[in-house]
Amino acid sequence: MSSNIRVNKICQYCSKEFEARTTVTKTCSDQCAKLFYKQRQKEMKVQGALTETAKIKAKPIEDLKAKEFLTVREVASLLSCSVRSVYYHIETGNLKAANLAKRITRVKRSEIDKLFN
Ligand SMILES: [Zn+2]
Repeated sequence: MSSNIRVNKICQYCSKEFEARTTVTKTCSDQCAKLFYKQRQKEMKVQGALTETAKIKAKPIEDLKAKEFLTVREVASLLSCSVRSVYYHIETGNLKAANLAKRITRVKRSEIDKLFN
């Protein structure tokens, strides 16, 4: 026996009010159901692309995390601060760095962690 319930619902695709025969119906018609499905597929694709973009953006940071010695610029990018701030911490002795040559400063990764101890 089919149920005789009638539920007033709002179509999730066209926002029209309709009478649903089941409580799980989301759309007013087959047409809307198809379009709603397509829309959701598209949204999922977009979401996937965004996740992918975020991953690619995070990649350089992930690479830096794996490096043993970093340039001042890399330290700044890793800490999300300015190059100037990094030099400030080097000058004040908060951050140990080696001057390999004039203008060539390298910071050991573990020294960065010490900043937070
Ligand atoms: Zn509809």
